[in-house]
Amino acid sequence: MTATRQPAAWLESARRGQTTAADLRAAAERCRACDLWRRGTQTVFGEGPARPRVVCVGEQPGDREDRAGRPFVGPAGRLLDEALERVGIARDGVWVTNAVKHFKWKERGKRRIHEKPSPNEVRACRPWLLAEIAALQPDLVVCLGATAAQSLLGPRFRVTKDRGRVVGAPGLPPIVATVHPSSLLRAPDAATRRRERARFEADLRGVASLLQKAPRRAARRA
Ligand code: SF4
Repeated sequence: MTATRQPAAWLESARRGQTTAADLRAAAERCRACDLWRRGTQTVFGEGPARPRVVCVGEQPGDREDRAGRPFVGPAGRLLDEALERVGIARDGVWVTNAVKHFKWKERGKRRIHEKPSPNEVRACRPWLLAEIAALQPDLVVCLGATAAQSLLGPRFRVTKDRGRVVGAPGLPPIVATVHPSSLLRAPDAATRRRERARFEADLRGVASLLQKAPRRAARRA
């Protein structure tokens, strides 16, 4: 298989069980399916164990992730790690990734400021996310924020209304959506931050409880 195939072709291959997450990572390095590759330093593909129980999906890599080439290595990632630990979800069973694999940013002085990806960019990158999930076959997917949730569940899905609830989508494992941990960092004051953090952890506690009840997927590929 050549690395120049389009993301949709990789998705088909992953669905047939012919592609691993490592194959996808290598192919996505050369992706040109939307213009974001021109601005980002590199493709930031997901990472984690070969057989994760959970795939956590964020929006897109941030400035630090773009430079490091790794997802969730900044303050939001630390917050996610702490929350997972507090609710009893083993971090070594979690794969972290993003709905969009290149950093979209605008310049402000010397800083690169996050810019929300457009619906077209999210759509262009969606096959990579679906392929990742197909190759990994987790028991559950956790969408962190609206971009991830809408990528997998459609534009009408509202995290504010349906957070913490298990949602089904054709061909995908059960999905739970909650807020992106970066939203907690942006809380206007300490009381709001504490309250929102407690809600975030309550959503993840629901995920932990589902994982305890759900049998591990038996027929994963080696
Ligand atoms: S953001 Fe996604 S679709 Fe766009 S170039 Fe990067 S990897 Fe490809």
